[in-house]
Amino acid sequence: MTAALERVTDGFRVFDAHVHVGRWLTPDFAGRESDLADAAGVLAGAGVTGALVMTTDARDNEGVLAAVRAWQGPLELRFAAWADPADPAALPFLARNAGEVAALKVHASFARLPITDPAFEPFLAHAGRAGLPVVVHCGRWREVAGWEMALEAADRHPEVPFILSHMGGDSPALVLGAAQAVRDRGLANAHLGTESIREYWLVRRALDLVGPEKVLFGSDHNLNHPGAFLAVARALGLDAASEALVLGGNARRLLAGSRRPGGPSAA
Ligand SMILES: [Zn+2]
Repeated sequence: MTAALERVTDGFRVFDAHVHVGRWLTPDFAGRESDLADAAGVLAGAGVTGALVMTTDARDNEGVLAAVRAWQGPLELRFAAWADPADPAALPFLARNAGEVAALKVHASFARLPITDPAFEPFLAHAGRAGLPVVVHCGRWREVAGWEMALEAADRHPEVPFILSHMGGDSPALVLGAAQAVRDRGLANAHLGTESIREYWLVRRALDLVGPEKVLFGSDHNLNHPGAFLAVARALGLDAASEALVLGGNARRLLAGSRRPGGPSAA
């Protein structure tokens, strides 16, 4: 293995597929703010070796990408662009920075628009062309951010990998509903992210429904501590091969075509 490939492989050993950088505008998160150096310190301290980094509801794609480009530390970073149809800068940003965008982030609740809305089509078309996974927030606001919407988008766009945040929504009924539907509908391109699901038994039940190749470890830092959700992942009682997939192997596969912003082109 070349030194560069070894670094990338190791960088995906424990890969956090859901990390925010910047300041939250929604009063719900009480002005929580962190910069990339803060985040990197917390992630490295928890034993995380790589991360998919994205802005907050401030939609500061430019600022976060610039910070990731300038980042010199050992973390293997990838950048996800926040895709909001109401943000006139979002599509031009994608066109301008295509080579450095590894994924899209859709937060239907903040956009107040389901991912199935035609306004998201240009973003999903871009994801399809560029081979980008789409991280889609799923929550309790079912008409807008329900897992049903995310799976409908996955059904319509079989060429795009979707990662349903919070495993489909932060409650046992939502997680199990989403996992059962992914299984029943045989959606090969639908995955579940573990961020903010505290119940290890629930993560395990969902994983047993969809299979270990469909679950990605994520923390939702800077809101949550990655160590807490790494502990959940490690409490699942998985065999070593399955745990390696959840902690980083699946992220490596989905992000295989991407490169680290500011770094050399992907091999
Ligand atoms: Zn998040």
